[in-house]
Amino acid sequence: MRSKGRKTRPAGYQGDARLRGRNAKKALEVLSEARKPLSAYEVLDRLAPSGITAPTTVYRALSRLVEEGLVHRLDSLNAYIVCDGHHAQHSEVMFVVCRVCHATEEITVPGVADALCEELADRGFSVAGANIEIKGVCAHCSTQRGKD
Ligand SMILES: [Zn+2]
Ligand SMILES: [Zn+2]
Repeated sequence: MRSKGRKTRPAGYQGDARLRGRNAKKALEVLSEARKPLSAYEVLDRLAPSGITAPTTVYRALSRLVEEGLVHRLDSLNAYIVCDGHHAQHSEVMFVVCRVCHATEEITVPGVADALCEELADRGFSVAGANIEIKGVCAHCSTQRGKD
């Protein structure tokens, strides 16, 4: 299906924050249902049935969600995941990412991010935010491997 859909509004259309908010809400729903990180294009695929077909719309919705702290962007996977909400907005976040199945879990290890930020502050570096990605093999995949 290559149809461009209805001719709606010119690109760069300003205003109607509610419409953009609705797109963001739909993108958030898609990410919540997935329960794993999705690339912008995977989000786009899943939004197509609701009439969202423009990559820019999806990128805008996703960056809005990231700004609002509802979604995190995982640089290494170039993907987005819903925040589990167990931390302050815009604080340092850690993820464990399984190399085998890409299962991703947001983790909070008390004190670790603080210690890191203190260490960096000592070096004169002020942290604006961080997504720390820890790669490895998840418990499920480790068990599967053991069986082979
Ligand atoms: Zn989070
Ligand atoms: Zn795994």
